[in-house]
Amino acid sequence: MRLFVYCSDPREAADLERKINQKLLKPGEKITRLTLYGGPIPFAHPRDLRAGAESFLEQIRFGMKMPGEFQITEVVLVFHDCGFYANVPFSVTRQTKLHDVVRAIRFLRKHIHRIKIRAYYDSSVGDKISFIRYRARRLACAN
Ligand SMILES: [Zn+2]
Repeated sequence: MRLFVYCSDPREAADLERKINQKLLKPGEKITRLTLYGGPIPFAHPRDLRAGAESFLEQIRFGMKMPGEFQITEVVLVFHDCGFYANVPFSVTRQTKLHDVVRAIRFLRKHIHRIKIRAYYDSSVGDKISFIRYRARRLACAN
């Protein structure tokens, strides 16, 4: 089962869920979700947002121990232009937001083994839904 990590901000969550359902889920796919304000941002800034990062890691490890079809075998991080950044103790540019996806994947890889990781950044404009997809080879980008 895939576990999706995304933002729970009610100003954005319904829209984000609609986009995830339309673009990222397979037909009829059942998933499980981990949502918090800011979604996967703590994985990109685990020193500044330690409680969130540790909590998510604990949840993912638990999900990996679930039996049969409920076992988490893949984590999908979904980033967007998030209002939570107004609340973080560092300056944020668009470049920071995009690079946070890479930082988050690196952090997860370091702490969770034997699991697939995918990540997306919601780059939709108006009614046109699109996600930037991050693959392993894109992780080579400069820090
Ligand atoms: Zn958000």
